[in-house]
Amino acid sequence: MSHNNIENNLDKTIIKNITMTVEDILTKLVSFPVLGGESNLSIINWIKDYIESHNVTVYMVPNEEGNKASLHCRIGPAVDGGLILSGHTDVVPVEGQDWDTNPFELVDKGDGKLYGRGSCDMKGFLATCLVMLPEMVKTNLIKPIYFAFSYDEEVGCLAAPDLIEHIKTTYTETPKYAIIGEPTLMEPIVGQKGIYILETAVKGSAGHSSRIKQEVSAIHESARLILWLENKMNDLIDAGRMDNRFNPPHTSIHIGQFKGGIAPNVIADKASFFWDLRAIPMDDTKSIVAEFDAHCRTREQELKTIYPDFKIKTVESHWPVPPLNTKETDNVVSLIKKISGHSKLNTVAYASEAGQFKNGGFQSVICGPGSIIQAHRANEFIAKDELKKGMEMISKLIIEMSHPDFT
Ligand SMILES: [Zn+2]
Repeated sequence: MSHNNIENNLDKTIIKNITMTVEDILTKLVSFPVLGGESNLSIINWIKDYIESHNVTVYMVPNEEGNKASLHCRIGPAVDGGLILSGHTDVVPVEGQDWDTNPFELVDKGDGKLYGRGSCDMKGFLATCLVMLPEMVKTNLIKPIYFAFSYDEEVGCLAAPDLIEHIKTTYTETPKYAIIGEPTLMEPIVGQKGIYILETAVKGSAGHSSRIKQEVSAIHESARLILWLENKMNDLIDAGRMDNRFNPPHTSIHIGQFKGGIAPNVIADKASFFWDLRAIPMDDTKSIVAEFDAHCRTREQELKTIYPDFKIKTVESHWPVPPLNTKETDNVVSLIKKISGHSKLNTVAYASEAGQFKNGGFQSVICGPGSIIQAHRANEFIAKDELKKGMEMISKLIIEMSHPDFT
């Protein structure tokens, strides 16, 4: 038996014999340094063992290489109308950040906060779900509660589509709602921009800089394309395409990385740039990209007269993360108001899996403990009080879902 196996078995024993507190669980979760893009098997297997130790069946959804997996499970009866609690197991890197403590050790400094990478985004929420599991199991739920925990959220919400598909094919019944427990200070979030990240590469012709009128500079043409994109954003604003629930209230288009050129006196034959689109729900990212593509085809035709091999190519850097646009009249909104203790609805500009769950057919909201301000930075923390509020929300959810009138 390898050392690892012994350790795993020890973990199981600990889980079986001792009731873990939310802080115990969070300590364990933070100790797995699983970054987005890396194998998450260590943390997901620990969570699987924990859930199974409460006699709940767990379904794993591995990736093709078998080095990552999401999981889901159902607590309660196999009937329609259940609710999914969704979270991700990966965190962002700590490299280059000035941490006062070991980021992968949960540290209680005695100031009411628990420090560690992922404490807030979003292992705090996972811990509140897991600590309430025994309560869910022993309560007579009228409608089921599901856990859906993914990987690779922080590198573009890559795992959620497979996870959602697997949930829909595994169970004969259909869940109705999803709560995505990203840190919102327990405020219900009903709107989220759609996000699309792209790379555009331009192939021109090389030559001496003095020949700029006889060659096609990939840098010069890239600059024109970048201006086209900026103008597109401004045109949308001028056309009054605004959604005041968001800050900023318009679709943004931004170029954040540019590569190209070797010297001031050499015309660049290659250049490329990365850009992102953050679209309000009324604007469709794909049609904006299609319009840009059409413009690129026109430019190709024009510049091929100077350089026949001139080419512009745009590829997805990440597939589009769909927007969230939950209606105030949706049942999930009245439910989340009731259980979160907050009645004011809000929107966010960051990406999450919420739009993917919505597209999967579930009424979705984002609501969870901790503040997004603490996420992704050095000395990330979650206030103990927030963890308590997260547990209270799930406790109220259990009460709601064990009520015969729950719909
Ligand atoms: Zn997150």
